[in-house]
Amino acid sequence: MTTASVEELRSRTRALLSEFDPADTEPLDFLRARFDAGLAWVHFPVGLGGLDAPRALQAVVDAELAAAGAPDNDPRRIGIGLGMAAPTILRYGTDEQRSRLLRPLWTGEEVWCQLFSEPGAGSDLAALATRATLGADGVWTVDGQKVWTSSAHTARWAILIARTDPALPKHKGITYFVCDMTDPGVEVRPLRQITGEAEFNEVFLTGVRIPDTDRLGAVGEGWQVAQTTLNNERVSIGGQRTPREGGLVGIVAGTWRARPELRTPELQQRLLKHWVDAEVLRLTGERLRQQLTVGQPGPEGAGTKLGFARLAQELTGFEVELLAEEGLGYDDWTMVRPELVDFNGREAGYRYLRAKGNSIEGGTSEILRNIIAERVLGLPPEPRTDKDVPWKDLAR
Ligand SMILES: Cc1cc2nc3c(=O)[nH]c(=O)nc-3n(C[C@H](O)[C@H](O)[C@H](O)COP(=O)(O)OP(=O)(O)OC[C@H]3O[C@@H](n4cnc5c(N)ncnc54)[C@H](O)[C@@H]3O)c2cc1C
Repeated sequence: MTTASVEELRSRTRALLSEFDPADTEPLDFLRARFDAGLAWVHFPVGLGGLDAPRALQAVVDAELAAAGAPDNDPRRIGIGLGMAAPTILRYGTDEQRSRLLRPLWTGEEVWCQLFSEPGAGSDLAALATRATLGADGVWTVDGQKVWTSSAHTARWAILIARTDPALPKHKGITYFVCDMTDPGVEVRPLRQITGEAEFNEVFLTGVRIPDTDRLGAVGEGWQVAQTTLNNERVSIGGQRTPREGGLVGIVAGTWRARPELRTPELQQRLLKHWVDAEVLRLTGERLRQQLTVGQPGPEGAGTKLGFARLAQELTGFEVELLAEEGLGYDDWTMVRPELVDFNGREAGYRYLRAKGNSIEGGTSEILRNIIAERVLGLPPEPRTDKDVPWKDLAR
């Protein structure tokens, strides 16, 4: 169905709603039926939750379903699955992997996490040291340590990159896997953040067994596969669709309008600047999504992620100043293991602290500037002396 029209999608959505009335259907049953009807992510292939339709038409389906009070799959809880694992599985997975993994991922029955960063490999991700070796029985054994793993404590599956050939240069000896988080060799330990909450984790992998059928892409081509994940990650963090004055800027502007006693001329100038920046970012994101309708995101997503991180930090700082002592009222340091990050639903003090991570997660702002300079603008690359050296000979 490459020429799906708005009308066709509306009538398919209405047919789903009449067969599965949200008022008396279990939310999970509804979500499964929606997936099977191809209305989960309409740009995915038929049989995998989609209709091969233009991505932009998803908004038509979403609006019909929201108006009918249909349950959604709570994207905040399963963001890594939806935004990063799914596009990678779609592009590199076998037919068997796609049909086994995508449905429970989309319905939220199976949460995903991302086992990429390591204590010695963050910005320089290709330096990673977690080892995977293939046994004669066709099963890989994985040993190593990952870190900063969001949602590892709720995840059923992980996307994992590991070194499979230390004799090759660092980008070449990496392979990409789907890792079962219930394997007895997976140990998840909480890591507390500046907010006091432990939304992410350290993950220790000791003799973890991964069947070769859970490899994504060819052996040694994990770096290329990971680019699909990372490009999608930047879009998924920085490129969310919002209406004008949606999201954080709307919250802050709402406080400004409702609380005239807080205003000063200096704060007004700053709010106006942030408001304009938010609008520019929103429109840039809109343009980026139009490009996405025709393929996988490229390095351009780095720009929206960069802008999003800067704006989130400026706006949350502004909000705390605006609210003065009220804004500082975040002082409960009880250990919490959140299932999701409800950024906009929280208090200003939490938002201010949590936004600090925005310029680190999904690639630091410095690294994103390098990506834009080299891969978008074509400026001369950073000197890289270790590119052709076998990974095992690198100083670590
Ligand atoms: C909230 C949060 C959630 C996260 N969730 C996950 C997750 O689920 N899964 C996962 O795998 N990872 C996750 N991460 C990890 C994140 O991807 C890394 O923290 C990030 O890539 C930076 O790596 P690093 O912490 O090792 O810092 P480093 O790479 O050590 O960087 C330290 C500093 O040096 C700068 N720097 C490094 N290299 C260069 C360079 N070439 N040019 C200029 N400056 C440079 C960096 O910008 C940074 O300021 C998360 C991080 C945060 C904050």
